[in-house]
Amino acid sequence: MYPELARAQPAWRYQPAPDELTGRTILVTGAGDGIGRAAARTFATFGANVVLLGRTQAKLEAVYDDIVTRTRTDPAIAPCDLATTDADGWRELADMIVDHYGRLDGLLHNAGAFGVRVPLEHYPLAQWSNVMRVNVDALLLSTQALLPALRRGSNASIVITSSSVGRRGRAYWGAYAVSKFAAEGFAQVLADELEHEGIRVATINPGATRTAMRAAAYPAEDPATVPLPESHMDLYLYLLGPAARARQRLQWDARNWSP
Ligand code: NDP
Repeated sequence: MYPELARAQPAWRYQPAPDELTGRTILVTGAGDGIGRAAARTFATFGANVVLLGRTQAKLEAVYDDIVTRTRTDPAIAPCDLATTDADGWRELADMIVDHYGRLDGLLHNAGAFGVRVPLEHYPLAQWSNVMRVNVDALLLSTQALLPALRRGSNASIVITSSSVGRRGRAYWGAYAVSKFAAEGFAQVLADELEHEGIRVATINPGATRTAMRAAAYPAEDPATVPLPESHMDLYLYLLGPAARARQRLQWDARNWSP
């Protein structure tokens, strides 16, 4: 187990078995950095084969190397820019997953674009469109392509990363906040559509977490005062593993939850 995870685990609200995710294949978007990197390393630590999707190949390779050094799992790398990948690109990835793993058991939509913090009155359309492509359009395209692989999975789970500003609007959070409201709406519709198939859908608000995105949003904040991503990994493990129940609830908050 890697050191940040070992330090965080005693304070978790949910203690998974060491082999909790063995046999599961989980795709993580934005797996090269921040919360996505922590989630990918954590899922592999608990036995999952993780598909590492992200924009920067070198970051994905570093996570891949770390996972093969520390675990006996079978990860894969999927370099992909969510702003530009089209339906054909997603289908190719889905085919690769089914060819190699036979199925997909979990999908963590984690990568996010932040945009700029200015009043809506002055929000630049080019930045707005980029945030919407990464945070909203990619949810649709990836879900459409990956649902057949998820249907082959066992007790499959789709988790979408939200934010406190995606549940209550706040001045100057612009496209980011609006895109997270859209992500919450997407999750509600999808959960209702998939309920009869037993595919679980949930949203997570990770809350303040020590990452590059947090530092960009709060440049004056001392990062040492903000929790590491590993402190929330109990909730991520719970929702992407087999323990959570279908439609237990849709919205989750990493700071305030119980199994
Ligand atoms: P980071 O900026 O640390 O990491 C984001 C990851 O997403 C990076 O690996 C990045 O790749 C990848 N990514 C960004 N854009 C794209 C793209 N177009 N295509 C593919 N990959 C992309 O962010 P966090 O870890 O902080 O955020 C993760 C999620 O959590 C986001 O959805 C965010 O909105 C949410 N969140 C975070 C909070 C926090 O306090 N940190 C609070 C609330 C919500 P690369 O490194 O190559 O750029």
